[in-house]
Parts: sequence; structure tokens; C-alpha cells
Amino acid sequence: MGPTLKSMFEQTVAKYADKEGLVDSRLGIRWTYAEWDQEVNRAAHALRASGVEKGDKVSAVLFNTAEIATVLFACMKIGAIFNPVNFRLMEKEIEYILRDADPKVVIFEKGTAPQIAPVAKTLTSIEYWSIDEENLPYALNYYERMEGVTTDRPSCQIDENDPYAIMYTSGTTGLPKGVIHSHRDMVDQALIMTACLRLSENDRGLTVAPIFHCAELHCAFFPRVMIGATNVLLHHFDAKEAIQTVREEQITSFFAAPTMWNMMLQEDFTKEDFLTLRQGLYGGAPMAPALTIQLHDALGVQLLQAYGMTEMGPAITALTEKEQVTKAGSAGRALLNHEVRVVRTNEHGPAEPEEVCKPHELGEIIVRGPSMMKGYYNRPDATEEALYKGWYHTGDIGSFDEDGYLWVSDRVKDMIISGGENIYSREVEDALFDHPGVLDAAVVGEPDDMWGEKVVAYIVKKESGLTDKELDEFCVTGNKLARYKRPRRYEFVDELPRNASGKLQKFKLRERRTTLLE
Ligand code: ATP
Ligand code: MG
Repeated sequence: MGPTLKSMFEQTVAKYADKEGLVDSRLGIRWTYAEWDQEVNRAAHALRASGVEKGDKVSAVLFNTAEIATVLFACMKIGAIFNPVNFRLMEKEIEYILRDADPKVVIFEKGTAPQIAPVAKTLTSIEYWSIDEENLPYALNYYERMEGVTTDRPSCQIDENDPYAIMYTSGTTGLPKGVIHSHRDMVDQALIMTACLRLSENDRGLTVAPIFHCAELHCAFFPRVMIGATNVLLHHFDAKEAIQTVREEQITSFFAAPTMWNMMLQEDFTKEDFLTLRQGLYGGAPMAPALTIQLHDALGVQLLQAYGMTEMGPAITALTEKEQVTKAGSAGRALLNHEVRVVRTNEHGPAEPEEVCKPHELGEIIVRGPSMMKGYYNRPDATEEALYKGWYHTGDIGSFDEDGYLWVSDRVKDMIISGGENIYSREVEDALFDHPGVLDAAVVGEPDDMWGEKVVAYIVKKESGLTDKELDEFCVTGNKLARYKRPRRYEFVDELPRNASGKLQKFKLRERRTTLLE
């Protein structure tokens, strides 16, 4: 029997029993690894008392709390399948996921109760647990479930190939799909990331990005737990609070989505605030090169980018510290044991893995590696298509340069075709980010009678005076963009639609246009 996440957690507990393992200042919690393990054991027994058995699912609709960090390991201890759910989803979306995942127990909190209450009325066979003290007619209380429960380790045989979690994709290009990952997938991902980040037990990590998303959980949180580092939780992202916590908790390493880093950059801080920070990680969405360089200069810390997707666990490539400036904008090179190819797209079906593109030739990015998903839950058709010939087809377009660095251009679904030419939204966004007056930018295609589609840019201004004329001139005079790639229309907005993991929801911008026309 190979290693499981459960055995790795228990090894850390044995080795670092008295070391600070988990900090959640909201509850005044500073647990050693041994104390954390005891809480995990209690939660595991409490779940069993509610009828959760090996193979059953447990969903958590929780922010970054000590409870989610406890429940996820509790599930592993009894072989239950952990299903973290995006806390910012609307009630209908949560209902869709819970109907699909079919959990025995759903754990939620005050902040997610408004979305859960209506769902509890329709999905009545589920048991609901609230971690807050309010008396809710449809829910049991998490802490009452823990009362008088033993802290002994529950016994359960778990195989490395047993599923550990069902994680839903972000739903950026359609309905979210449940991705099944095994223990082994995540042990491999955690080990690869531990090596890539050169983590040690002396590290103190901060969780600001949501735990429900695999970028935080698998690339930052698990690797830190596996090596015995300390984990500090921030309930949800707040730029000021994140900076303050880095200083006060002497944080050495943390992950944040590009938009979160952008928000931190807008705050008042000095390099002193980041004195203990030895690395900042980003990924999950593209970061404009201009922003990477600003961040590098302002923080004075090493940066590391990861590119990936839920289906791959997620990380597949990384751009390491030294390459941030020389290769700014690239997604880096394949992680240990991962293979990445760019192959010619195929209009009639999945791209063929053998049809490899030359350097600088754009194609679909396909990957394979040890942490590839076992498949989509309840979706054999989608699994077969996505894992065609053993390679995961990402739906992202990109190319390799002559040095073997991967450049991600766009999602196939976001690419704009205008007058027969392909325009990659990211290239236009990156150019707009070079303008000092631009705080945030998103580029989408809009139907156009003459060209098929035209390029439209949605801009959040940093300075109030910025005009579309100025931006257009900036693109022309700086030779930033070929004429046909330049936005035909600019729209200034207060903010862009982003989900809780910081991903641009371009479908909302397209919908907005359709609604305006109606
Ligand atoms: P869905 O598959 O449901 O439409 P999603 O693809 O947004 O949602 P995730 O698995 O969270 O769900 O995101 C993976 C995608 O995010 C990648 O396919 C890629 O488009 C984008 N992405 C992730 N990391 C990076 C990065 N470093 N640079 C550019 N894009 C990235
Ligand atoms: Mg996807």
C-alpha cells in the first residue's frame, strides 16, 4: 500500500506534534499538530455517527476556517470523499453541485447560510451542519456534534488509489464539472510542489485564496502540512488584512490569485511589511507582464507562477523566481514528472497528441502527469473526450518558445475571430495593462455584421481622466498591437466580474451585452 494523504498527515503529526500547525485568529485558535489531529479525529467520529461511511461524500460550503481544515482531514481518516464548494456561488449553482455530488452531510457557516437555507428545503435527504451558534431549524450544530466524542484515531483501511475528493471546476466555460482525485494524485502533487517551493518545516504559510479551490489547497496548503510548516488562515481575502497578517505572523510563503496581488499593490505598504516573506506564488489565471514586474519591484520578494487546472491537480508548469523578469508573461516549464505538449487543433474532435506544433506555433495545450484526475464524476462522456489517448486536453491555446517555455495565449472559448484572423484576448489585455492608468482589463469578442466579431475592452480605471481615445492612441503609437487586434470599443466599468478564485467571468460580460440589446 502506497502513501495516502491520511498517512502523510499522520506522519507530520508524529514528527511535529508540539509545533504550531494551524492558526485561525477569528476563533483565537493556535493548534499544535497534535491538537489539530485530535480535532480531526473527533470530527471523523462525529461524521461516522451521522452515518458517513467509506465512499460517502461530505460537502463543505465554508470560507477559510479551522473547521474546513479539520473536516477535510476527518474525511480522509474514514475514507469519506471531501467535496469543497465555492462559497460565493448562488443558491441555484450550489444546488446543482450538491445534487450532482450527492453528499450525506453538508457543513456551512453564517456567511453561506443564505445560499444553503433554500437548498435545504429541496434537498431534504442531506444532513446539514452549521459551524456557527445560531439555532437553525434545518441544521445541526457542528460543535454539538463534537461534544463528548472521542479523540482516538478512527480505524479505516485506505488505499492510495481511493478517491480523496471531488472538486468542481470553476465553471468559467460552462457548468462546473466534478473532478475526482485520488489520494495518490495529491500526494504526488504535494511532493512536487514542496520541492518546487523548497518548503521546510520552518516556513509559515498564509492561506488567503479559498481552500475550496485546488490552487490553494493542493499547491500551497497540503505541501506545507506535509513538511510540517505552520498554516495561518485568513477567513477571506482582504488586501489590507493580508499585508498586516504577513507582517504580524511573520509569513514566509503564500499563494494569491493575480487579481489579489493587484489589489495588494494598490495598498500603502513598504518592503518592511514583507520582510519575512521569501516567496509569493500566483496562478490560476493569467497575470499581465506589466503587473508581474511591478509586483517584483514593489515587494522585493521572489515570485513563482503556477499554471494548471482542477483536472490536473492543478499545477503542471511553473515559472520560477529567476525567470520572472526574463520570461515575464510565460507560464514557465513543466513540473517534475509532467509532460506538456502543444498540438494542432482539430475542428472535428479532440486534438491528436502526435500532431506536435513547432516552437512559436499556436495550438492546444495537452498534458499528462501523476496527478491527472481519475475522471469527471457522473460524466463518462466528458471524461472520455478530455482524457483522449491518455492526455488531458486543456482547452487552452498556447505555444512553446525556442527555450522550451510555455506561453498561454487564451482559452479556445475566449479567442476572438475577427475578419478571419484569430485574436487572443490575453495579448490585448496585456497590452492595455501596460498603460499606467489601467487598473483592470478584460477583452471579449462581440458579434459584428462586417467582421464576424469585434474586439471590445472593459476597463477599470486607476485615474479618473482616462479616455478611450487615449487608450487607442497608446496601442497605436506604442506599436503595442496590430491594427486588427485593437479594441473597436472601450467600456469603462467600476469592477470586472470575477469569481472567488479571481477568474474573469467573461460570459457575464457577453451576457451583459445581450441584455443591453434586448
Ligand atoms: P471550467 O473548466 O469549469 O470552465 P475553469 O477552467 O476556469 O472552469 P479551473 O480548473 O479553476 O476551472 O481553471 C483552469 C484554467 O485557468 C486553465 O485551463 C487556464 O485557462 C486558466 N489558468 C490557470 N492558471 C493559469 C496561468 N498561470 N496563466 C494563465 N491561465 C491560467
Ligand atoms: Mg477548465
